[in-house]
Amino acid sequence: MSLESFVYPKPPSFAPLDPPPRLLCGPGPCNPHPRVLQALGATELGHLDPSFLKIMDETKELLKYVWQTKNEFTIPVSGTGTAAMEACVFNLLEPGEKFLVGCNGYFGERLGQIGERCAATVIRMEKPWGKVFSLEEIAEQLERHRPQVLALVHAETSTGACQPMQGIGDLCRKYNCLLLLDTVTSISGIPVYIDNWKVDAAYAGTQKCLSCPPGMAPLTFGPRALEKLKSRKSQVPSYYLDMSLVASYLLGENGGSKRSYHHTAPINMCYAVREALYIAAEEGLEKRWKRHRENAEVFWNGLKQLGLEPLVDKEHRLTSLTTVKIPQGVDGKEVISILLNEYNIEVGGGLGELAGKVWRVGLMGYNSRPDVVLTLLAAFENALRKVGYIKSNRF
Ligand SMILES: *Cc1c(COP(=O)(O)O)cnc(C)c1O
Repeated sequence: MSLESFVYPKPPSFAPLDPPPRLLCGPGPCNPHPRVLQALGATELGHLDPSFLKIMDETKELLKYVWQTKNEFTIPVSGTGTAAMEACVFNLLEPGEKFLVGCNGYFGERLGQIGERCAATVIRMEKPWGKVFSLEEIAEQLERHRPQVLALVHAETSTGACQPMQGIGDLCRKYNCLLLLDTVTSISGIPVYIDNWKVDAAYAGTQKCLSCPPGMAPLTFGPRALEKLKSRKSQVPSYYLDMSLVASYLLGENGGSKRSYHHTAPINMCYAVREALYIAAEEGLEKRWKRHRENAEVFWNGLKQLGLEPLVDKEHRLTSLTTVKIPQGVDGKEVISILLNEYNIEVGGGLGELAGKVWRVGLMGYNSRPDVVLTLLAAFENALRKVGYIKSNRF
């Protein structure tokens, strides 16, 4: 056999690409806004083309609005939320430094694991899943451990709980600690005020409340985070996610207009992110937050009618994602598969400690709409009837 002979005698004989029309009401991704999908297909540009750099600059300005920050270092990172999470941890911590992490869910735990990979001393501040940290608990941990960085998850997608932020930024400054915040499931869906909350660094995702496909992830560094980055003694352990190098491409050297190549930006994803942020700005943040709340309230009322109950107390419950307790005797997985296979609706199961105990239902961005809520409730009712939990026969 020659080296040039075919390994496959024939090309694989699959059907052409034809994904089913799912309604995505899980923990993300949610359905992208149709205008965002259209933006993905716009004509390609080079990554140093002035026309593309203008699109990137506009994206950064829109992101500053959506995050409520004046931070100049506000960019979309190539990769999904976890890439931006890793970028924050890798750039803001050096080996041996203390990293205090709020672990009250799956994503807090992930932050800790990433901290260990850059040889930080990770201190896990634990709390039962579904609960949030009080200011006193955080103060006590800062006093005891004096960490260089504190990381919290604002909207814990694994539990449906929302961490209150009042007073935490001031505390961190008092203890000379950087405050890092995961806003993946909060950005544009519920109030986030990066500057007013004195958050030093934050990251987000595009496929949750921004209704954009996954592929890029917003990141912002405030002045204290940038100072830390500049005064590092060791190299950032990742080339791709070294924010000083990325800045020379995305922000220009010394804030100037000269941009140098670091990696090729995912051009069409940048179009999509710009369009998603543009749509959020067009709607206005306050209206968008209110819409998420109103649709969540209707959903919660409907759950009650079905005899279902959210896991998290109303005071700390996210409006973008609800964890619904699976009633005793009901096979949660079977309900998920009925919703998917019979109604084309995706909802999520529980992660970690909550596996088998909850469904995770997202009403995010474009999907936070009355018609989606009603469709979802009707499908839930039917699925619960099929598994014998309720007797109603309305549909
Ligand atoms: C989805 C999510 C992430 C991770 O984002 P990926 O896009 O899956 O990499 C991180 N944090 C929270 C709170 C999330 O919901």
